[in-house]
Amino acid sequence: MVVFESNKGRRIIGRLERGDNLLESLLTTCEKFDVKAGFIRGLGAFETAELTEYDIEKGDYRPPFRLEGLHELLMLNGNVSFKEGRPFLHLHALLSSVKPGACTVYGGHLLSATVFACEFEIVTSDDVELVRKADTATGLSLWQESGKLKAKS
Ligand code: ZN
Repeated sequence: MVVFESNKGRRIIGRLERGDNLLESLLTTCEKFDVKAGFIRGLGAFETAELTEYDIEKGDYRPPFRLEGLHELLMLNGNVSFKEGRPFLHLHALLSSVKPGACTVYGGHLLSATVFACEFEIVTSDDVELVRKADTATGLSLWQESGKLKAKS
């Protein structure tokens, strides 16, 4: 188990514009506010999205499932940490399509999205360092024991 306690954090609240690249915009926000570790949540709607999931047999992510057209973003959930020295987003999304007599929900590991509207919050943990490295047990890049940042005096 890898576990950290954080006693220092901020809340960054924002709205993305129509046409924004979700991942690029959130990474830019993380860099602007010097977010090194935190959790992200949001809601709104996407005009396109690519979802996948991990295939344990192949040890890799499945080919993306691409959604075109407006879908409601029921839930964006994810985190920010560091991988190979750069901020890295791990995002999951639930999206819906409602038509007369049918409601379909799509979900998965989010690879990309074009924003129609998105209100989001990033809750930071400014006193921990979350670093992703290869995990031999899963084949994934997961948080490793890298230490808690020292408090500034
Ligand atoms: Zn994932």
